[in-house]
Amino acid sequence: MQLTHKIALCPTPEQVDYFKRACGTARRVWNWALNEWNRQYAAGGRPNAMSLKKQFNAIKYADPQWLDENGRPWLKDIHRDAHAQPFRNLAKAWERFFADLKEGKEAHKPRLKKKGRCRDSFYVANDRFTLNGKTIRLPKIGEVAMTEELRFAGKILGATVSRIADRWFVAIQVEVPDAQFYRRRTSHEVNGVDLGIKAAATISSGEVIEAPKPLKAALRRLKIRSRRLSRKLEAAKKAAGFERRARLPKGTRLPVSNNRRKSAATLARLHARIANIRADFTHKLTTRLCRENQALVIEDLNVKGMLENEKLARAISDVGFGMLRSQLEYKARRYGTHLIIADRWYPSSRLCSICGWKNEALTLTDRKWVCAQCGAHHDRDLNAALNLKRLATETALPVASPASNGGAASGTVPAVVGKVTPVRYDGSQQDTSGQEEKRAHLCALS
Ligand SMILES: [Zn+2]
Repeated sequence: MQLTHKIALCPTPEQVDYFKRACGTARRVWNWALNEWNRQYAAGGRPNAMSLKKQFNAIKYADPQWLDENGRPWLKDIHRDAHAQPFRNLAKAWERFFADLKEGKEAHKPRLKKKGRCRDSFYVANDRFTLNGKTIRLPKIGEVAMTEELRFAGKILGATVSRIADRWFVAIQVEVPDAQFYRRRTSHEVNGVDLGIKAAATISSGEVIEAPKPLKAALRRLKIRSRRLSRKLEAAKKAAGFERRARLPKGTRLPVSNNRRKSAATLARLHARIANIRADFTHKLTTRLCRENQALVIEDLNVKGMLENEKLARAISDVGFGMLRSQLEYKARRYGTHLIIADRWYPSSRLCSICGWKNEALTLTDRKWVCAQCGAHHDRDLNAALNLKRLATETALPVASPASNGGAASGTVPAVVGKVTPVRYDGSQQDTSGQEEKRAHLCALS
Protein backbone atom coordinates (compact mmCIF):
# COMPACT_ATOMS: atom_id res chain seq x y z
CA MET A 1 0.00 0.00 0.00
CA GLN A 2 1.27 3.44 -0.89
CA LEU A 3 1.00 6.55 1.22
CA THR A 4 2.31 10.03 0.55
CA HIS A 5 3.54 12.36 3.23
CA LYS A 6 3.69 15.99 2.15
CA ILE A 7 6.04 18.05 4.27
CA ALA A 8 6.67 21.79 4.16
CA LEU A 9 10.25 22.83 3.40
CA CYS A 10 12.27 25.75 4.74
CA PRO A 11 14.63 26.40 1.82
CA THR A 12 17.26 29.13 1.64
CA PRO A 13 16.84 31.79 -1.08
CA GLU A 14 19.45 29.96 -3.21
CA GLN A 15 17.51 26.73 -2.84
CA VAL A 16 14.28 28.48 -3.78
CA ASP A 17 16.03 29.76 -6.87
CA TYR A 18 17.03 26.22 -7.78
CA PHE A 19 13.51 24.93 -7.13
CA LYS A 20 12.09 27.54 -9.46
CA ARG A 21 14.54 26.68 -12.20
CA ALA A 22 13.89 22.95 -11.77
CA CYS A 23 10.14 23.53 -12.02
CA GLY A 24 10.67 25.66 -15.10
CA THR A 25 12.74 22.88 -16.64
CA ALA A 26 10.09 20.27 -15.91
CA ARG A 27 7.46 22.55 -17.42
CA ARG A 28 9.45 23.24 -20.59
CA VAL A 29 10.29 19.60 -21.11
CA TRP A 30 6.66 18.64 -20.64
CA ASN A 31 5.61 21.19 -23.24
CA TRP A 32 8.32 20.03 -25.63
CA ALA A 33 7.24 16.42 -25.21
CA LEU A 34 3.54 17.19 -25.61
CA ASN A 35 4.09 19.30 -28.74
CA GLU A 36 6.30 16.60 -30.21
CA TRP A 37 3.76 13.92 -29.30
CA ASN A 38 0.95 15.83 -30.98
CA ARG A 39 3.09 16.58 -34.03
CA GLN A 40 4.10 12.95 -34.52
CA TYR A 41 0.57 11.75 -33.90
CA ALA A 42 -0.85 14.18 -36.49
CA ALA A 43 1.76 12.92 -38.96
CA GLY A 44 0.42 9.40 -38.53
CA GLY A 45 3.04 8.22 -36.07
CA ARG A 46 2.53 6.39 -32.82
CA PRO A 47 4.63 8.33 -30.31
CA ASN A 48 5.46 6.91 -26.90
CA ALA A 49 7.24 8.23 -23.84
CA MET A 50 10.36 6.14 -24.28
CA SER A 51 11.00 7.11 -27.90
CA LEU A 52 10.35 10.78 -27.14
CA LYS A 53 12.75 10.70 -24.23
CA LYS A 54 15.40 9.12 -26.41
CA GLN A 55 14.81 11.76 -29.04
CA PHE A 56 15.06 14.46 -26.39
CA ASN A 57 18.25 13.05 -24.90
CA ALA A 58 19.83 13.22 -28.34
CA ILE A 59 19.24 16.97 -28.66
CA LYS A 60 19.09 18.29 -25.09
CA TYR A 61 22.73 19.34 -24.89
CA ALA A 62 23.00 20.44 -28.53
CA ASP A 63 19.78 22.01 -29.81
CA PRO A 64 19.89 25.84 -29.65
CA GLN A 65 16.60 26.08 -27.72
CA TRP A 66 18.22 24.17 -24.83
CA LEU A 67 21.39 26.30 -24.76
CA ASP A 68 21.90 29.55 -22.89
CA GLU A 69 23.28 32.73 -24.46
CA ASN A 70 26.85 31.48 -24.03
CA GLY A 71 26.04 28.26 -25.86
CA ARG A 72 26.09 26.21 -22.65
CA PRO A 73 23.42 23.52 -22.16
CA TRP A 74 21.53 24.91 -19.16
CA LEU A 75 19.87 21.55 -18.48
CA LYS A 76 23.15 20.46 -16.91
CA ASP A 77 22.51 22.79 -13.96
CA ILE A 78 19.35 20.93 -13.03
CA HIS A 79 19.26 17.36 -11.84
CA ARG A 80 18.18 15.04 -14.64
CA ASP A 81 15.17 13.59 -12.78
CA ALA A 82 13.46 16.96 -13.23
CA HIS A 83 13.61 16.64 -16.99
CA ALA A 84 13.16 12.87 -17.24
CA GLN A 85 9.97 12.60 -15.24
CA PRO A 86 7.76 14.74 -17.53
CA PHE A 87 7.95 11.97 -20.13
CA ARG A 88 6.55 9.44 -17.69
CA ASN A 89 3.94 11.91 -16.50
CA LEU A 90 2.90 12.57 -20.07
CA ALA A 91 2.53 8.86 -20.79
CA LYS A 92 0.40 8.53 -17.65
CA ALA A 93 -1.73 11.52 -18.65
CA TRP A 94 -2.48 9.93 -22.03
CA GLU A 95 -3.23 6.59 -20.41
CA ARG A 96 -5.68 8.27 -18.08
CA PHE A 97 -7.25 10.12 -20.99
CA PHE A 98 -7.87 6.95 -22.98
CA ALA A 99 -9.04 5.02 -19.91
CA ASP A 100 -11.58 7.75 -19.09
CA LEU A 101 -12.68 7.86 -22.70
CA LYS A 102 -13.22 4.12 -22.70
CA GLU A 103 -15.24 4.25 -19.50
CA GLY A 104 -17.39 7.04 -20.90
CA LYS A 105 -16.15 9.48 -18.28
CA GLU A 106 -15.28 13.08 -18.92
CA ALA A 107 -11.79 12.85 -20.44
CA HIS A 108 -9.18 15.60 -20.55
CA LYS A 109 -6.28 15.59 -22.98
CA PRO A 110 -2.93 16.60 -21.51
CA ARG A 111 -2.45 20.32 -21.95
CA LEU A 112 0.48 22.64 -22.30
CA LYS A 113 1.71 24.07 -19.02
CA LYS A 114 1.77 27.80 -18.69
CA LYS A 115 4.08 29.64 -16.36
CA GLY A 116 2.19 30.97 -13.38
CA ARG A 117 -0.92 28.99 -14.30
CA CYS A 118 0.21 25.43 -13.82
CA ARG A 119 1.23 23.52 -10.75
CA ASP A 120 4.96 24.02 -10.26
CA SER A 121 6.70 20.77 -9.37
CA PHE A 122 9.59 18.48 -10.16
CA TYR A 123 10.48 14.91 -9.31
CA VAL A 124 13.39 13.33 -7.48
CA ALA A 125 13.94 9.57 -7.72
CA ASN A 126 14.30 7.57 -4.50
CA ASP A 127 18.01 6.84 -4.98
CA ARG A 128 18.77 10.56 -5.42
CA PHE A 129 17.76 11.86 -2.01
CA THR A 130 18.32 10.87 1.57
CA LEU A 131 16.42 11.72 4.71
CA ASN A 132 17.96 12.45 8.04
CA GLY A 133 15.46 13.49 10.68
CA LYS A 134 14.14 16.87 9.70
CA THR A 135 16.43 17.37 6.74
CA ILE A 136 16.34 16.07 3.22
CA ARG A 137 19.42 15.96 1.02
CA LEU A 138 18.52 16.73 -2.56
CA PRO A 139 20.75 16.49 -5.63
CA LYS A 140 22.59 19.67 -6.70
CA ILE A 141 21.58 21.73 -3.66
CA GLY A 142 22.30 19.58 -0.62
CA GLU A 143 20.43 19.68 2.64
CA VAL A 144 17.05 21.37 2.91
CA ALA A 145 15.26 21.76 6.24
CA MET A 146 11.85 20.16 6.62
CA THR A 147 9.20 21.22 9.14
CA GLU A 148 8.75 17.65 10.36
CA GLU A 149 10.11 14.15 9.98
CA LEU A 150 8.73 11.58 7.59
CA ARG A 151 6.03 9.82 9.54
CA PHE A 152 5.81 6.56 7.60
CA ALA A 153 8.18 3.67 7.84
CA GLY A 154 8.65 1.66 4.68
CA LYS A 155 10.27 1.64 1.28
CA ILE A 156 10.67 5.14 -0.11
CA LEU A 157 9.51 5.28 -3.72
CA GLY A 158 10.24 8.85 -4.76
CA ALA A 159 9.60 12.49 -3.99
CA THR A 160 8.01 15.47 -5.67
CA VAL A 161 8.95 19.03 -4.77
CA SER A 162 6.16 21.52 -5.39
CA ARG A 163 5.10 25.06 -4.65
CA ILE A 164 1.87 26.45 -3.25
CA ALA A 165 1.77 30.26 -3.24
CA ASP A 166 5.19 31.15 -1.81
CA ARG A 167 5.75 27.94 0.14
CA TRP A 168 7.59 24.82 -0.94
CA PHE A 169 6.72 21.23 -0.10
CA VAL A 170 8.13 17.80 -0.63
CA ALA A 171 5.71 14.91 -1.06
CA ILE A 172 7.41 11.62 -0.28
CA GLN A 173 5.82 8.42 -1.54
CA VAL A 174 6.27 5.45 0.74
CA GLU A 175 5.31 1.82 0.33
CA VAL A 176 3.99 1.01 3.79
CA PRO A 177 3.17 -2.36 5.36
CA ASP A 178 -0.52 -3.24 5.70
CA ALA A 179 -0.44 -2.78 9.47
CA GLN A 180 0.40 0.88 8.97
CA PHE A 181 -2.07 1.39 6.16
CA TYR A 182 -5.17 -0.07 7.77
CA ARG A 183 -6.77 1.74 10.67
CA ARG A 184 -9.05 0.60 13.42
CA ARG A 185 -12.58 1.94 13.61
CA THR A 186 -13.85 3.14 16.95
CA SER A 187 -17.48 2.29 16.23
CA HIS A 188 -19.50 0.64 13.52
CA GLU A 189 -22.46 2.85 12.71
CA VAL A 190 -24.25 3.13 9.40
CA ASN A 191 -24.95 6.71 8.31
CA GLY A 192 -26.06 8.83 5.41
CA VAL A 193 -24.43 12.22 4.97
CA ASP A 194 -26.14 15.10 3.23
CA LEU A 195 -23.70 17.74 2.05
CA GLY A 196 -24.83 21.27 1.54
CA ILE A 197 -24.04 24.92 1.60
CA LYS A 198 -26.10 25.95 4.59
CA ALA A 199 -24.72 23.26 6.85
CA ALA A 200 -21.58 21.68 5.46
CA ALA A 201 -22.78 18.23 6.40
CA THR A 202 -25.87 16.77 8.02
CA ILE A 203 -25.47 13.25 9.35
CA SER A 204 -28.43 10.89 9.59
CA SER A 205 -27.70 10.53 13.31
CA GLY A 206 -29.03 14.09 13.62
CA GLU A 207 -25.72 15.86 13.91
CA VAL A 208 -25.26 19.05 11.91
CA ILE A 209 -21.73 20.08 11.01
CA GLU A 210 -21.08 23.72 10.15
CA ALA A 211 -18.33 24.93 7.89
CA PRO A 212 -15.42 26.52 9.77
CA LYS A 213 -15.90 30.20 10.65
CA PRO A 214 -12.45 31.40 9.54
CA LEU A 215 -13.45 30.32 6.06
CA LYS A 216 -16.21 32.90 5.87
CA ALA A 217 -13.94 35.72 6.96
CA ALA A 218 -11.24 34.64 4.54
CA LEU A 219 -13.69 34.48 1.68
CA ARG A 220 -14.75 38.04 2.36
CA ARG A 221 -11.14 39.12 2.22
CA LEU A 222 -10.73 37.14 -0.96
CA LYS A 223 -13.32 39.32 -2.67
CA ILE A 224 -11.52 42.47 -1.59
CA ARG A 225 -8.11 41.29 -2.66
CA SER A 226 -9.37 39.96 -5.97
CA ARG A 227 -10.88 43.35 -6.65
CA ARG A 228 -7.60 45.06 -5.83
CA LEU A 229 -5.72 42.84 -8.23
CA SER A 230 -8.23 43.27 -11.02
CA ARG A 231 -7.99 47.05 -10.67
CA LYS A 232 -4.26 46.81 -11.20
CA LEU A 233 -4.83 44.64 -14.23
CA GLU A 234 -7.27 47.17 -15.60
CA ALA A 235 -4.74 49.92 -15.06
CA ALA A 236 -2.14 47.90 -16.94
CA LYS A 237 -4.57 47.40 -19.80
CA LYS A 238 -5.31 51.11 -19.94
CA ALA A 239 -1.62 51.98 -19.93
CA ALA A 240 -1.14 49.63 -22.87
CA GLY A 241 -3.93 51.37 -24.80
CA PHE A 242 -6.73 48.84 -24.30
CA GLU A 243 -10.20 49.35 -22.90
CA ARG A 244 -10.44 48.61 -19.18
CA ARG A 245 -12.55 45.50 -19.66
CA ALA A 246 -11.30 44.60 -23.10
CA ARG A 247 -10.41 41.01 -23.87
CA LEU A 248 -6.83 40.98 -24.92
CA PRO A 249 -5.86 39.36 -28.21
CA LYS A 250 -4.24 35.98 -27.69
CA GLY A 251 -0.57 36.16 -26.89
CA THR A 252 -0.63 39.73 -25.60
CA ARG A 253 1.65 40.28 -22.65
CA LEU A 254 1.09 43.28 -20.45
CA PRO A 255 3.99 44.63 -18.45
CA VAL A 256 3.68 43.49 -14.82
CA SER A 257 4.18 46.29 -12.32
CA ASN A 258 5.70 45.64 -8.92
CA ASN A 259 2.42 46.48 -7.26
CA ARG A 260 0.54 44.06 -9.44
CA ARG A 261 3.06 41.32 -8.72
CA LYS A 262 2.82 41.95 -4.98
CA SER A 263 -0.94 42.04 -5.13
CA ALA A 264 -1.00 38.74 -7.01
CA ALA A 265 1.31 37.16 -4.43
CA THR A 266 -0.92 38.32 -1.58
CA LEU A 267 -3.94 36.89 -3.33
CA ALA A 268 -2.17 33.58 -3.94
CA ARG A 269 -1.27 33.36 -0.24
CA LEU A 270 -4.88 33.96 0.71
CA HIS A 271 -6.03 31.29 -1.72
CA ALA A 272 -3.56 28.90 -0.12
CA ARG A 273 -4.83 29.83 3.33
CA ILE A 274 -8.42 29.19 2.32
CA ALA A 275 -7.41 25.86 0.84
CA ASN A 276 -5.68 25.01 4.13
CA ILE A 277 -8.71 25.88 6.24
CA ARG A 278 -10.90 23.83 3.97
CA ALA A 279 -8.48 20.90 3.90
CA ASP A 280 -8.20 20.94 7.68
CA PHE A 281 -11.96 20.83 7.97
CA THR A 282 -12.56 18.08 5.42
CA HIS A 283 -9.69 15.96 6.74
CA LYS A 284 -11.07 16.02 10.27
CA LEU A 285 -14.60 15.40 9.07
CA THR A 286 -13.76 12.55 6.70
CA THR A 287 -11.47 10.84 9.19
CA ARG A 288 -14.15 10.95 11.81
CA LEU A 289 -16.84 9.68 9.46
CA CYS A 290 -14.74 6.75 8.29
CA ARG A 291 -13.52 5.95 11.75
CA GLU A 292 -16.99 5.77 13.25
CA ASN A 293 -18.95 4.13 10.46
CA GLN A 294 -18.90 0.72 8.85
CA ALA A 295 -21.01 2.06 5.99
CA LEU A 296 -21.46 5.60 4.70
CA VAL A 297 -23.74 6.89 1.99
CA ILE A 298 -23.10 10.18 0.22
CA GLU A 299 -24.53 11.75 -2.88
CA ASP A 300 -23.00 12.11 -6.28
CA LEU A 301 -21.65 15.52 -5.36
CA ASN A 302 -20.82 17.30 -8.58
CA VAL A 303 -24.30 17.20 -9.92
CA LYS A 304 -25.83 18.48 -6.77
CA GLY A 305 -23.24 21.21 -6.65
CA MET A 306 -24.19 22.33 -10.12
CA LEU A 307 -27.90 22.26 -9.45
CA GLU A 308 -28.25 23.89 -6.12
CA ASN A 309 -25.71 26.63 -5.79
CA GLU A 310 -25.32 30.06 -7.13
CA LYS A 311 -22.25 30.92 -9.08
CA LEU A 312 -19.75 31.77 -6.37
CA ALA A 313 -20.97 29.17 -3.93
CA ARG A 314 -20.60 26.59 -6.65
CA ALA A 315 -17.04 27.46 -7.47
CA ILE A 316 -16.12 27.32 -3.82
CA SER A 317 -18.11 24.29 -2.80
CA ASP A 318 -17.14 22.18 -5.78
CA VAL A 319 -13.54 22.21 -4.67
CA GLY A 320 -14.51 21.29 -1.15
CA PHE A 321 -16.93 18.62 -2.26
CA GLY A 322 -14.52 17.01 -4.66
CA MET A 323 -11.87 16.93 -1.98
CA LEU A 324 -14.33 15.52 0.52
CA ARG A 325 -15.27 12.72 -1.80
CA SER A 326 -11.73 11.71 -2.68
CA GLN A 327 -10.72 11.81 0.97
CA LEU A 328 -13.68 9.64 1.89
CA GLU A 329 -12.74 7.21 -0.84
CA TYR A 330 -9.20 6.59 0.33
CA LYS A 331 -9.96 6.78 4.03
CA ALA A 332 -12.81 4.32 3.59
CA ARG A 333 -10.21 1.89 2.28
CA ARG A 334 -7.95 2.52 5.25
CA TYR A 335 -10.73 2.06 7.80
CA GLY A 336 -12.52 -0.74 5.96
CA THR A 337 -15.62 1.42 5.69
CA HIS A 338 -18.09 0.66 2.95
CA LEU A 339 -18.66 3.84 0.95
CA ILE A 340 -21.79 4.06 -1.15
CA ILE A 341 -22.31 6.82 -3.69
CA ALA A 342 -25.98 7.50 -4.33
CA ASP A 343 -27.17 7.74 -7.89
CA ARG A 344 -27.33 11.31 -9.16
CA TRP A 345 -31.05 10.85 -9.77
CA TYR A 346 -31.84 9.58 -6.30
CA PRO A 347 -34.24 12.22 -4.91
CA SER A 348 -32.84 12.16 -1.40
CA SER A 349 -34.34 15.56 -0.52
CA ARG A 350 -37.80 14.88 -1.91
CA LEU A 351 -38.62 11.51 -0.41
CA CYS A 352 -40.28 11.21 2.95
CA SER A 353 -37.85 9.18 4.99
CA ILE A 354 -40.72 7.60 6.92
CA CYS A 355 -43.28 6.53 4.35
CA GLY A 356 -41.51 7.06 1.03
CA TRP A 357 -43.91 9.63 -0.40
CA LYS A 358 -42.24 11.90 -2.92
CA ASN A 359 -42.68 15.64 -2.49
CA GLU A 360 -42.65 16.87 -6.08
CA ALA A 361 -43.38 20.44 -5.00
CA LEU A 362 -40.26 20.84 -2.83
CA THR A 363 -38.24 23.89 -3.80
CA LEU A 364 -34.63 24.78 -3.06
CA THR A 365 -35.62 27.32 -0.43
CA ASP A 366 -37.81 24.93 1.58
CA ARG A 367 -35.79 24.15 4.69
CA LYS A 368 -38.67 22.33 6.38
CA TRP A 369 -41.64 20.47 4.98
CA VAL A 370 -44.54 18.23 6.03
CA CYS A 371 -45.27 14.90 4.39
CA ALA A 372 -48.72 14.92 2.77
CA GLN A 373 -49.10 11.18 3.18
CA CYS A 374 -48.03 10.47 6.77
CA GLY A 375 -47.89 13.97 8.20
CA ALA A 376 -44.29 13.73 9.36
CA HIS A 377 -42.42 17.01 9.86
CA HIS A 378 -39.08 17.04 8.09
CA ASP A 379 -35.93 19.07 8.28
CA ARG A 380 -34.77 19.13 4.67
CA ASP A 381 -31.15 18.12 5.27
CA LEU A 382 -31.75 15.54 7.98
CA ASN A 383 -34.49 13.92 5.91
CA ALA A 384 -32.09 13.71 2.96
CA ALA A 385 -29.41 12.15 5.17
CA LEU A 386 -31.89 9.57 6.45
CA ASN A 387 -32.89 8.67 2.89
CA LEU A 388 -29.24 8.26 1.98
CA LYS A 389 -28.69 6.03 4.99
CA ARG A 390 -31.46 3.73 3.79
CA LEU A 391 -29.42 2.92 0.70
CA ALA A 392 -27.06 1.02 2.98
CA THR A 393 -29.70 -0.88 4.90
CA GLU A 394 -32.39 -3.39 4.10
CA THR A 395 -35.01 -0.70 4.56
CA ALA A 396 -34.05 1.13 1.37
CA LEU A 397 -37.06 2.73 -0.24
CA PRO A 398 -38.11 1.43 -3.64
CA VAL A 399 -37.47 4.38 -5.90
CA ALA A 400 -38.38 4.76 -9.54
CA SER A 401 -35.20 6.09 -11.07
CA PRO A 402 -34.88 7.70 -14.48
CA ALA A 403 -31.28 6.52 -14.63
CA SER A 404 -30.60 3.84 -17.18
CA ASN A 405 -29.29 1.40 -14.61
CA GLY A 406 -32.63 1.56 -12.84
CA GLY A 407 -31.07 1.55 -9.41
CA ALA A 408 -30.83 4.17 -6.73
CA ALA A 409 -27.16 3.72 -6.02
CA SER A 410 -24.40 3.80 -8.58
CA GLY A 411 -20.90 5.03 -9.15
CA THR A 412 -17.69 3.19 -8.66
CA VAL A 413 -18.83 1.74 -5.37
CA PRO A 414 -21.55 -0.89 -5.52
CA ALA A 415 -24.63 -0.52 -3.39
CA VAL A 416 -25.04 -2.80 -0.45
CA VAL A 417 -28.20 -4.84 -0.49
CA GLY A 418 -29.26 -6.06 2.88
CA LYS A 419 -28.12 -5.07 6.31
CA VAL A 420 -24.46 -4.44 6.86
CA THR A 421 -22.98 -6.63 9.54
CA PRO A 422 -20.53 -5.12 12.00
CA VAL A 423 -16.92 -5.91 11.32
CA ARG A 424 -14.58 -6.61 14.21
CA TYR A 425 -10.94 -5.75 14.17
CA ASP A 426 -8.16 -7.01 16.35
CA GLY A 427 -6.33 -4.42 18.38
CA SER A 428 -3.05 -4.69 16.56
CA GLN A 429 -3.67 -1.78 14.25
CA GLN A 430 -2.66 1.65 15.29
CA ASP A 431 -4.93 4.58 15.53
CA THR A 432 -4.42 8.25 14.84
CA SER A 433 -6.42 11.39 15.20
CA GLY A 434 -7.79 13.49 12.38
CA GLN A 435 -5.63 16.33 13.61
CA GLU A 436 -2.51 14.31 13.09
CA GLU A 437 -3.67 13.10 9.74
CA LYS A 438 -4.34 16.61 8.53
CA ARG A 439 -1.01 17.89 9.70
CA ALA A 440 0.61 15.28 7.59
CA HIS A 441 -1.27 16.50 4.49
CA LEU A 442 -1.80 12.87 4.08
CA CYS A 443 -3.01 11.58 0.81
CA ALA A 444 -3.09 8.11 -0.54
CA LEU A 445 -2.12 7.01 -3.99
CA SER A 446 -3.32 3.85 -5.58
ZN1 LIG B 1 -44.39 10.40 4.89
